[in-house]
Amino acid sequence: MSTQSDVFKKLIAHSKEYGFVFPSSEIYDGLGAVYDYGQNGVELKNNIKKYWWDSMVLLNENVVGIDAAIFMHPTTWKASGHVDAFNDPLIDNKDSKKRYRADVLIEELLAKYDEKIDREVEKAKKRFGESFDEKMYRETNPRVLENQAKRDEIHARFVKALNDNDLDELRQIIVDNEIVCPISGTRNWTDVRQFNLMFSTEMGSTAEGSTKIYLRPETAQGIFVNYLNVQKTGRMRIPFGIAQIGKAFRNEIVARQFIFRMREFEQMEMQFFVRPGEEIEWFEHWKDIRLKWHKALGMGEHKYRFHDHDKLAHYANAATDIEFEMPFGFKEVEGIHSRTDYDLSQHEKFSGKNIKYFDPELNQSYVPYVVETSIGVDRMFLSIMAGAYTEEELEGGDSRVVLKFHPALAPVKAAILPLVRKDGLPEKAREIMDELKFDFKCVYDEKDSIGKRYRRQDAVGTPFCITVDHQTLEDNMVTIRYRDSMEQDRVAISDLHKIIDEQVNMKNLFKKIVTE
Ligand code: ATP
Repeated sequence: MSTQSDVFKKLIAHSKEYGFVFPSSEIYDGLGAVYDYGQNGVELKNNIKKYWWDSMVLLNENVVGIDAAIFMHPTTWKASGHVDAFNDPLIDNKDSKKRYRADVLIEELLAKYDEKIDREVEKAKKRFGESFDEKMYRETNPRVLENQAKRDEIHARFVKALNDNDLDELRQIIVDNEIVCPISGTRNWTDVRQFNLMFSTEMGSTAEGSTKIYLRPETAQGIFVNYLNVQKTGRMRIPFGIAQIGKAFRNEIVARQFIFRMREFEQMEMQFFVRPGEEIEWFEHWKDIRLKWHKALGMGEHKYRFHDHDKLAHYANAATDIEFEMPFGFKEVEGIHSRTDYDLSQHEKFSGKNIKYFDPELNQSYVPYVVETSIGVDRMFLSIMAGAYTEEELEGGDSRVVLKFHPALAPVKAAILPLVRKDGLPEKAREIMDELKFDFKCVYDEKDSIGKRYRRQDAVGTPFCITVDHQTLEDNMVTIRYRDSMEQDRVAISDLHKIIDEQVNMKNLFKKIVTE
């Protein structure tokens, strides 16, 4: 049986082999935590972005989009707190010279305790069968209780250290719990230091005339500084939202998990502006909507969970993550935060401009409160690849790797395959392709046996293979083969458009979000 880390390695190899993700500038041995998307990757990524974008701006009449620049006035980052406080606590192992995030080392230790407890419960469940009372077992079993107590103690110390910004205590937790470097296996740790994650560069051509500016570490600030422009020009009334998709940059300390943690990545963020006092209600609303958005993709309800933050950012009064079960455990894919009026008030203060909203219903001006949904395109991409990747044993000892994407997200919707490369079949296949290509991303493939061609399409997750044979020339019927079931049907060419559209249309997903 493959272990989880084997699966992850295979997924990375598969992503490269089939044109989804390449290491950046690979011919120069790559660049740490920077990746390029290949011919199939870019299609999947664009589909993810469309799914998100349309779910925001089509399904909600009070949500509109913008596209702000990556460079912003440097004071933006003073106001937002990023210059002073966008730090991660880092720690080095003196033997391996590897760098870690101190908080992540401790979080991983906590996860190990959780796993230990879960394993204990699983074992007991098997032993006792039907009569097993899990709640009772968790509350009374001495080994579970012991581990739980230890976990709770570490967790309490950890939360306090984070809230107090106590770097020495973070180190002490690592030392006391004998956390070792996974590379060197030793406990020879440096002190914990703060490290600012923003990249900076110079704008302007002369040394004296240049200004230090930053590559944005999040897209949100572009929305905040534009909120009044949008509100006024769009005659928006609170509550309303502004959505944006764009690149963000963070000089991450630890960058070892493929596209999970990148130094250049893409975010899809929506800031929703509400009346003060109504933010928690909206926070709950968006939590619900966002989870539905994820679940509509059909990768399994059990693969998602909410994880409330241990440490609320100083500006937030509620925050949760949507986590997805990656091959390396449950990990954050999206954050939903109630950011109060912090950001807008800060921009008001630093810019000296009045950015209050006049509420005609209340006949009153105020700084709106903000609920944010923030998701990384690349993490979403990884979750989809992980959820779709399937190895199957087939009859006759054969096997296949198939990416079971939701058809609406699949990079290629249909492959058009002439059975042989002669007798007019390629021409007929091209005719079909020329008809379908206006609406669907299709590929044409005439090389190798039909079986091999099916496998190639399975490996990139193409939901439909359409085979043109000699009979087609006589009756205008083709064989359509479905990716997941591998079943085949004989259908009329004139029905193809409808058959494909029924499966790949994003409307299917949107309806689930709106109605369920
Ligand atoms: P983490 O705790 O994993 O560093 P975060 O809490 O700092 O993430 P946010 O600032 O809330 O992340 O950013 C919102 C979303 O942006 C995250 O949920 C994630 O999907 C994405 N994201 C953040 N940092 C990265 C990164 N380095 N690479 C890829 N995606 C990222």
